[in-house]
Amino acid sequence: MASMASQIALTVDVHVEDRPADIIRAAAWLGVHRIPATFFVPSALFEHANFRPHIILLPSLGFEVGSHGHDHDYAEIRALMRGAAADLNFLRRSQALYRETFGCTPISFRSPAWCPLGPGAIAALVELGYRVDSSATPQRLPIFSSTPYANTWLFARRTPYELAPGLLEVPTSCLLLPAASPTWLTLRRRAASAFLSLLLWEARRCADCMPCVQLHVSDFVPDAAPPSPVETLGLRSFLPRRDGGLRFKVFLRERNPERVYATTLAIIEVLRGHRGGGFVRLRELVKPAEG
Ligand SMILES: [Zn+2]
Repeated sequence: MASMASQIALTVDVHVEDRPADIIRAAAWLGVHRIPATFFVPSALFEHANFRPHIILLPSLGFEVGSHGHDHDYAEIRALMRGAAADLNFLRRSQALYRETFGCTPISFRSPAWCPLGPGAIAALVELGYRVDSSATPQRLPIFSSTPYANTWLFARRTPYELAPGLLEVPTSCLLLPAASPTWLTLRRRAASAFLSLLLWEARRCADCMPCVQLHVSDFVPDAAPPSPVETLGLRSFLPRRDGGLRFKVFLRERNPERVYATTLAIIEVLRGHRGGGFVRLRELVKPAEG
């Protein structure tokens, strides 16, 4: 895995709250800047009339579409963390929808909210032929996550490793907070760049480390605010919920679209400075399955 040290995985998570057209705007932006990326998409959006036309274009534009669950809700999160085989049927349905939409099966998976995967979920992913999982957020603080009472990969390894036979775990870079859009928008441009630089410094010192960074499609769109929180701020926002964690955190995030975009530019610039910035899609990290 020594070659991974000079590679970077840029991932873009898509959600039903996004503006559908932002998917193609983000893809176009990445295309112009010659950055291959993996889009993680909940498969319910494949059937969504507004989203489908944009999502089906992604492979022809050179992007990988990975699975981000089906509905991306707390029922799926609970099933992935602790569910029995029957609770995980949504993974089968999701894979079938993917095959109907793209004519092939998905290679890469990321759990909703990076929730931890229980043994049943790992076995189901292997059975369904997934080759890469990018759900881990090593040493993420549970209290800032969406599942504050679960182990949020607190003791997970920081480098890619075989999670199960044939399934490569590529952790999202993380240190207390994930190298991801919610963190960038909370820290803002300067602090986000410094935090990412720290993670890249670690990656340069460790031969097996591979930076894996997440953004949202709205981060690439300088003329419209990111999707607004679906809730209102109240006292309850300061109590950690089993499903959702501390909700006041969503009100701390940058909402000015130009500043969001400036932060994205800064993140990409820092990534490009990392050993020449060789971006890869996650599926390129595994050999094609035999047969
Ligand atoms: Zn998500």
